[in-house]
Amino acid sequence: MIRIGPAGIPLSCKGRTNKDGIIYTHRNLDLNAIEIQFVRGLYVMSDEEAQIIREYSEENDMEVHVHAPYYVNLAGDGEEVEMSFEKILRSARMANNIGAKTVVIHPGFYGENSEKKTLKMIIKNSKKITGTIKKEKLKIKIGIETMGKQKVFGTLDEIIEVCKSVKGVIPAIDLAHIHARGNGCLKERKDFEEIFEKLKPLRLKHYLIHVTGVLYENGNEFYHLPIKKGDMPIAPLIEIILDNNYNVTLISESPLLEHDAVYIRLQVEKAIMKRTGKEEAYYKDLSEVI
Ligand SMILES: [Zn+2]
Repeated sequence: MIRIGPAGIPLSCKGRTNKDGIIYTHRNLDLNAIEIQFVRGLYVMSDEEAQIIREYSEENDMEVHVHAPYYVNLAGDGEEVEMSFEKILRSARMANNIGAKTVVIHPGFYGENSEKKTLKMIIKNSKKITGTIKKEKLKIKIGIETMGKQKVFGTLDEIIEVCKSVKGVIPAIDLAHIHARGNGCLKERKDFEEIFEKLKPLRLKHYLIHVTGVLYENGNEFYHLPIKKGDMPIAPLIEIILDNNYNVTLISESPLLEHDAVYIRLQVEKAIMKRTGKEEAYYKDLSEVI
């Protein structure tokens, strides 16, 4: 199954609440996923809105993920880590209330520490978080994101190490970050295949993938670009997904948000048409190509 959606409330959606955003994404865009952004400070959602989102997403087969506040450091000192716990757990509780599958987090910074020490600290602190999630019986996973800057913890290999060590933590595969960090490393089919190959030991049944164009220099992300303005192709990714029948959710983090989510959808449908030889395709129907 391929799910597609925007990272946040669509720009063209008049109402600016998350409830408005999810309804618009389903009804107006006919997309089937969304990643709600709890990123500007700590987002407060009323129980009423949470319940509406939960019911709406269940009734309309919308898959919901959540992005926790950006500034989190699970490799910092005492107070910083405490504050990070607080942000992640508050996000996790809200995510659980709205029936989200995943809370995406940015893991942290190397700072003065070696890569190895940072990895150890992040594993230790991730275990604390999943411990609390288990204790509170929250039905969500922590999605730990691949990061696009050299001084930030989160190469694909590092993220995989954390996921191997901590149950309840899955990778949030930000392709633009991998691409930027590798100074434009995702060009051809084999480059994307390598990612799935590396992920194999995790035996994932579902892949949460972030997609956007990106401007980068010397292995560091500058900012996001529309997919077509970036130099990372998405056609090889879609081919691999269809060839392997991967169960994926593609979240558009492009500055054109829903516009590029729909662009991804059209590329998927183009790939389906190429396979069936028909002049029509619907991204939710893969029955003829798998
Ligand atoms: Zn992120």
